[in-house]
This record gives sequence, C-alpha cells and structure tokens, in this order.
Amino acid sequence: MSEEEFGPELKVWMLEHFQTMAESAVWRPEGTGLRYRKKDATTLVLEHRIDHGQSLAHHERIKNLCNEVAIVMDDDDVMITPAALSMEDAYRQEMQERQKVASSWSCECGVYLSNMPLNKADAKYVGDREILLDEGDTTTVEDWALAVECECGKEILMNPDDYNLLAGDELFMRYKNGDGFYIKAMTRLDMLDYAMENRLGILVGKECPLSGVKVPPWMWGTYCMIVDGGEEE
Ligand SMILES: [Zn+2]
Repeated sequence: MSEEEFGPELKVWMLEHFQTMAESAVWRPEGTGLRYRKKDATTLVLEHRIDHGQSLAHHERIKNLCNEVAIVMDDDDVMITPAALSMEDAYRQEMQERQKVASSWSCECGVYLSNMPLNKADAKYVGDREILLDEGDTTTVEDWALAVECECGKEILMNPDDYNLLAGDELFMRYKNGDGFYIKAMTRLDMLDYAMENRLGILVGKECPLSGVKVPPWMWGTYCMIVDGGEEE
C-alpha cells in the first residue's frame, strides 16, 4: 500500500477538529462505522469499529492523517462488531443506538430533553465548519442547532440530528419565520390538498422567500406551507 499524501488543508482541518474536541468527547465520522474518543490533549482512541474492509480502510486513513499531525492513535483495544447485512440495516442499527442514547439526555437540572417542549424549538445558525469528504477534500458546511428552553430557564442547543431523533420529522422539517409562524415542508398529501384547492405553496431556498431569514440546510429546496406555532401542540 502506498503512503497517501495529505494536503495541508486536510492536516489543518484534522488538528483543528481534534483541538476543538473536549476531553473524552466522542467522534463518529459519518458513514465510516468508526467511533473515536479523545483520551487527552494528544491521544485519540479507536473504541469501536465495524467488521468491514471499508471501515478498516477509513480507520487506516484517519490514523495516517493523525500521525502526520502528531496526534497519537491508540487502536490496541477496539471493540469490533459484525457488519450489518446491508447499508439500510446498518443505518437502522445506528439510529436505534442513537435514539437510545438520546432518550437519556437531560438538562443539568435533571429534566430529560425528551420531556422538554420540543414543539417550541427554534433553529439557530451557529457558524461555518469545515468537514472531511470521502475523497480527502474538505468543504464548508453550516452548523445549526435547535434551541429548546428547559423549565429551569436554561437554553439547550441540540444537534439537529439529535433533535430529529427525539422530536420526529413532523417537528424537524420546519423553521420559524421572522414573523412568528412556522414554515413547514409539505407532505405529498399536503401537496395533493393544495393542488385540489388550486393553491400554491412556498418554494424554499437558502433564505425564506417571505421574511428573508436564513433557512437551515435541511429545509433547502423543500416545498412548504405556513402553519402557526400552535398547530402541532
Ligand atoms: Zn433545566
């Protein structure tokens, strides 16, 4: 196997990513079947790997990249689980695992996130972040969070995927318009209703066509309708 040349951008990305991780934070690069944990200021531990050639190849690559930027990779004691039968099974398995984890999250006051008023959540733009692509290039993505208020008054910022897990698609596929109501992605049934009534929905891009507010990426390119905040309570 030939040694891969990593570009400077990728090295910088890796270092920055590692440095911004909190100690003992978990990193699961999407679609790799890998789970890492930051052990201390210099060491990344491979905790879990799927028993699949692709997964191993991903890990070797990340390990080489880490070596280049003086991050120590500890992969001596890794838990290996069998590869699921299909990508779909693997996805379902991962979602179930994450759902289980998500249901145990709580505010520091003890209230579970799953018991908070998730229907009142508001999507917030956090900033831009560079991510690693499969081919070794990086790209910039927008970071967003769902802000939910706990009964103790603390604002909890949830990762959108986590929010989706807990709240479901119905609450996830919408955003709050600057005018105080929600713009929600239409289902096929909604669109049928609109078509029968000869009504038009709202085609949403990166900015709200009505109020001009920034739209979260998971809503880009959806066909939407206006619902008021109270509808789904
Ligand atoms: Zn609380």
